[in-house]
Order: sequence, then structure tokens, then C-alpha cells
Amino acid sequence: MIEKDRIRPLNAKKIINRKYVIYWMQASPRASYNHALEYAVSEANKSDKPLIVFFGITDHFPSANLRHYTFMLEGLQEVKDSLEERGIKLVVRYNSPEFEIAELAREGGLIVVDRGYTRIQRYWRRCVAGLIDCPIIQVESDAIVPVETVSLKEEYTAASIRPKIQRFLRDYLRPLRPIKLKRESLRYRLETFDISNLDRALKRLQIDHSVAPIADLKGGLSHAETLLDEFIVNKLKYYDSLRNDPSRDFVSHLSPYLHFGQISPIQVALEVMTKRGTGPDAFLEELIIRRELSLNFVNYNVDYDRFEGLPEWCRATLKKHESDKREYLYTLAQLEKGETHDSYWNAAQKEMVGTGKMAGYMRMYWGKKIIEWVERPEEAYRYALYLNDKYELDGRDPNGYAGVAWCFGKHDRPWSERPVFGNIRYMNADGLKRKFDIEKYVRQVNDRCRAAEAR
Ligand code: FAD
Repeated sequence: MIEKDRIRPLNAKKIINRKYVIYWMQASPRASYNHALEYAVSEANKSDKPLIVFFGITDHFPSANLRHYTFMLEGLQEVKDSLEERGIKLVVRYNSPEFEIAELAREGGLIVVDRGYTRIQRYWRRCVAGLIDCPIIQVESDAIVPVETVSLKEEYTAASIRPKIQRFLRDYLRPLRPIKLKRESLRYRLETFDISNLDRALKRLQIDHSVAPIADLKGGLSHAETLLDEFIVNKLKYYDSLRNDPSRDFVSHLSPYLHFGQISPIQVALEVMTKRGTGPDAFLEELIIRRELSLNFVNYNVDYDRFEGLPEWCRATLKKHESDKREYLYTLAQLEKGETHDSYWNAAQKEMVGTGKMAGYMRMYWGKKIIEWVERPEEAYRYALYLNDKYELDGRDPNGYAGVAWCFGKHDRPWSERPVFGNIRYMNADGLKRKFDIEKYVRQVNDRCRAAEAR
């Protein structure tokens, strides 16, 4: 059963008796643990119509490049096969989805769509809701507890949102069983963009091809499930104590799959909860509380990706210290190439550029140093987001917007005042040396980047 508060009509139109029910798959491209898909199947069964799943590929998704499109299409190839096993046709079109879905909707009596939080995702849904003459129903499929059920306002910190999420977890952390489709749709002939040959499909896209795909992190649910199994068997029990150490690999690496909607956070949480010890608690705090705090931030703060979106005290303290003398100043080009005096920061930057994923603890250090080395805080904010979104496989995500904002004080408290940072929390290289074998991390990054280049 799908909880009622996951379901929201985006317009007030009445269901029309037409050929198909259509699921516009956008934020949650997966064939299991997908509430929007199961809702669409049940609606198709109810009206005795075949279900078509549509996915639109636009060249113009903000900040996305070859690295991201490769990962997305790898995942979509798996989705196509899994849907076919359930008798459901996937129609892929190479066009901005809001136009294409409006076109397809001429034969659809009902459109179902999953939920996205970023500006463009909301804009697309609004456009379609206005353009079509049949209903469009949004079904939340990527939050464990729907954002508005948790809170109707922007929350201050993890501490303020935690109890509001926790009281619902028992009701929302439940397996989602696939519903059998009554009328299969594979036999319908509908024009579709061919994704069977990945290289050929990618070459056709007019996108930024300058950022290389990541060969050893492939998109798709099967890869996410392999990582999840490995994590549960080998890493989870050490997660609480070792996850922050950048020279030891005790994290799940699931963020790109969660970002692209290729695995459901509910599936991940339920599988992790079968284990005992402190590992699951620490992991669930990140996966549920921190991740859903990010969704809350992006949902309620229109400036979630701008300096202006920070709390007043953060902006005021950073502006007050804007003209403080900075020991080092770097341009965006120097930062992008990892050419600073700080070998730890350079390693983190290199890791992100070369492997598509920076160690979690280093992401905090990395963001903090950009504040220290760039003249104006607004500029530092833009640089951090630009680099994160361009190179991280999991970039352009609510977690990225909240993560960068955290470096600038969001979801944190004021600390004692110091130059440049004012009351914003500060981090330094001595802390890295004290806590970890940070030289080992630098060597590992160099080795991994060399290996990636050789491939
Ligand atoms: P694990 O430790 O295995 O955690 C499991 C999952 O929990 C993650 O996949 C993620 O969904 C969630 N999670 C973990 N840490 C956080 C956190 N601090 N906030 C919110 N959710 C969390 N995360 C992104 O997904 N995309 C980004 O673009 C991104 N940019 C960041 C930028 C900065 C400057 C900072 C400080 C953090 C950023 N994060 C981002 C949050 C966090 O660093 C990553 O989610 C985490 O490192 C992903 O690795 P993992 O999947 O192996 O994490």
C-alpha cells in the first residue's frame, strides 16, 4: 500500500478515457521500490489500460556532463530490461521531458510522475501540469517520510528535524511489493531513442563531453546492490568509528545511486536495519536524518544554491570578515587544477576530478578552505558549488546544496569568532594530521588517479 501523503495531484483535471496510463519516470529511474511506478501500475489496472513508462533526455540539464549522462544511461539500460520483465514498455525520447510528455499525453488519460526537489525538476512538473488536459499525479518515491509530513517549514538543524522524522519511521520504512500489471504494453509501437549501444547514444547527445566517465563506478541498481551487500558484510560494523577516515574505506559509496534515483533509500535502510551493533544507527543517521534534512532545505529555501539562502547570522559574520587579510588567494582555475600550497586539499580536489567521488570528511575540509582562499564569500560559494556539481557523480543534489551550505554555517551553530570565518566553524590541516594518516590518503589518491588515467 502507498501512503496517502506520498500522492499529490499537480492539476485539477479529470481522468480521460484514452489509450494508456503513462508514468513519467524522472527522479526515480528504477523498477523496484518505486512508489510512483507501483501507483501507476495500480491505476492502469484499475482502468484496464496498458502502462507506458516515459523517460526524457535533455541536453540541457544544468551542470550535467558526459560523466553524469553515462552513469544515468547505464542505469536506464537496466531499468529497460527490468520493466520489460514486468511487461512494461519504456519509451525514451531525446527531448526536454516537459515538451515530450505533453506530446505523449495526447494518448494518455492519466500521467503519474515521481518527485524532484531542485528548481528545474519543479519547473518541469509545473509546466506539464499546465500543458496537458489530463491529470498529473506526483508520487513521492525518494524520501523515506514525505517532506511536508515531517515539517511544514525549513528546519534549523539535524537536532530539530530528527524527532520529527523518527516518529514516522515505523510507518514509512516498509517494503514495497511490485504489483502485477494486468495489460502488458510491450507490443505497442512507439518511437524511442535507442540506448542499447551506450557509446553511440552518448555521441548523439549535444552535451559537455569534457569530463570523463568513471569506469569503475557504473550506474544501475545491480551495481548499487552489489555495493550495498559489500558494505553490509564488510564495512557496516566499523562505520561508526571509521567512516570519517579518508585513508580507510568504510563508507557505502551509494550517493551517486541515490542521487540518480537508481536505488531507493527505503531499500537501503531496510537491508541495513537487519544488522545489529552501532553501525546501523550511525549509518541511518546519515541516510535518513541528514539526507532528509537536505530535502527539507531545498524544498523550503528558494535560494538553496545561493549565498543568499544562508541564515542571516552566517551571511553577516562572513561579510563582516570579508576584508580580513587572507594568507593565500586562488582563482577558480587554480582551484580546479588542484594547484594550491595545500597537498591535502589538492589531493581531495584531484580525487573528485579523477574518480568522481571525494571522501566524505575531505568534502568538509575542501569546502572550508575555499572560503579561506577566495576573496569574497559569495564567490567562494559559487566556486564550491560549481566544482562539486561538475565533477562529483552525486553532485547537483539536495545533499550537495546542503553540504556546501553547511561549510558556510547552515545547519550548524556559531563558534568563537576568528579572522575570515567570523563565527563559522573552522577546519585546518593540523586536524587532519592529528586524526588520520593523511599522507596515506594523498598516496592513495595519486595511485587511484594514475590507475583511472591508465584505463
Ligand atoms: P555514506 O557515509 O555511506 O552515507 C550513506 C548515505 O547517507 C549517502 O549516500 C548520503 O545519501 C547520506 N549522507 C551521508 N552523509 C551525508 C551528509 N553529510 N548530508 C546528507 N546526506 C548524507 N552528498 C551528496 O549526495 N551529493 C553531493 O553533491 C554532496 N556534496 C557535498 C559537498 C560538501 C561540501 C559536503 C560537506 C558534503 C556533501 N555531501 C554530498 C554529503 C556527503 O559528504 C555525501 O553524501 C557522502 O560523502 C556520500 O558518500 P557515501 O554514499 O559513501 O556516504
